[in-house]
Amino acid sequence: MKNWSDLDKRYLWHPFTQMLEWTDTDPLVIQRGEGNYLIDTDGRRYLDGISSLWVNVHGHCRDALDKAIIEQLGIVAHSTLLGLSSIPSIALAEKLVKIVPEGLTRVFYSDSGSTAVEVALKMAFQYWRNLGRHTKRKFVTLAEAYHGDTIGSVSLGQIDLFHSIFQPLLFHTFSLPTPFPYRHPDLSLEECRDRSLDHLRALAEDHAEEIAAVVVEPLVQGAAGMIVHPPGFLRGVESLCREFDILLVCDEVATGFGRTGKMFACEHEGVRPDLMSVAKGLSGGYLPLAATLATEKIYEAFLGEYAEYKTFFHGHSYTGNALACAVACANLDIFESERILEQLQPKIALLQELLSTEIAPLPHVGEVRQCGFMVGIEIVEDSAKRQSYAPELRTGARITQDVRSRGVILRPLGDVVVMMPPLSVTQDEIRTLVASTAQ
Ligand code: PLP
Repeated sequence: MKNWSDLDKRYLWHPFTQMLEWTDTDPLVIQRGEGNYLIDTDGRRYLDGISSLWVNVHGHCRDALDKAIIEQLGIVAHSTLLGLSSIPSIALAEKLVKIVPEGLTRVFYSDSGSTAVEVALKMAFQYWRNLGRHTKRKFVTLAEAYHGDTIGSVSLGQIDLFHSIFQPLLFHTFSLPTPFPYRHPDLSLEECRDRSLDHLRALAEDHAEEIAAVVVEPLVQGAAGMIVHPPGFLRGVESLCREFDILLVCDEVATGFGRTGKMFACEHEGVRPDLMSVAKGLSGGYLPLAATLATEKIYEAFLGEYAEYKTFFHGHSYTGNALACAVACANLDIFESERILEQLQPKIALLQELLSTEIAPLPHVGEVRQCGFMVGIEIVEDSAKRQSYAPELRTGARITQDVRSRGVILRPLGDVVVMMPPLSVTQDEIRTLVASTAQ
């Protein structure tokens, strides 16, 4: 029998991984999935507490999703959207337009969250150009934002660890302070929110003619450590965008498809973005697929005679892949047929209760942040002083490694332990998830 672990170390280069450390470990090699569990090559079962990096929605090996791909395979696996169209890509676009915030009417496909953001920023840039407003070419993003790892999306991002090394390749963006209440114990929730909004207002007053768009992760900044914005922040950003004629781009890559308890995070505040990026849960966690949704107003600004060069010259070889669109359609059908968002509410409440009784009181827990099924547990050396551990101790990584030995897969963001189970997780599995983490 092959030793997959040794072969991994010989041939693979893993993302976001110091490979020198990796060679000293015995990598966990997953052989198969079953419902909310992943099973390794030795037959050990692990609860998938991070939905395979926030993508899985209804569990692994779901019959209806498997069948959708198999059925589509018997028809055609892929045909291009450049110059042709395909039935699954049209069917999915129709379904998406029906469930996204009102006003988003056009669907542009790509393959990952990063590319969905990249498309949004190129669209925003070209939108103003097509209207003859050439000065509107800058972007405003939140401190600690994460929008992906292609160069455009890295330019929008503000997590130094991931982004600063590429600085010479990046374009300049305006930065907005993150409304992060835990870091500002001196401010009330409202003051924390207003501080960021005031900053945005000042920026807009001075630079509206330079700003193409504000780009935000709505409600929750995931990769920054599950920072949950104070109520009213997103709505405040939207209303400033309207006041100063700036586009609002919502990056729902992490928050979309039920993660926050509603289909999209924007819905919590009734916000209607001009552009919205989705990926991760779009295909139920099965295949790489992403989409950027645009309003009719934006779409129309790209119409014209060919020689006006208003065309959006962008697209990947696998854009609108038929297998991925077919499984995404089946994924959305499950939301409807099984009333997933309704089923989710008691599970969110249970998770909240267990987090507050079993995790929050632990001595080294600084804060538990939760929005639906997005959870970040901030581990600190001294919770009264909100003092972090030295980063080199890798406390978050050590904790998640321990939790893994108890049969639950988690992944930290620095010293924030992240929980993001599939929406299909059962109440018993939620109890296991929390109890294994609290031990
Ligand atoms: N945007 C947000 C908010 C994300 O959380 C992520 C990934 O975590 C991305 C974009 C990038 O998505 P992908 O990893 O699919 O490129």
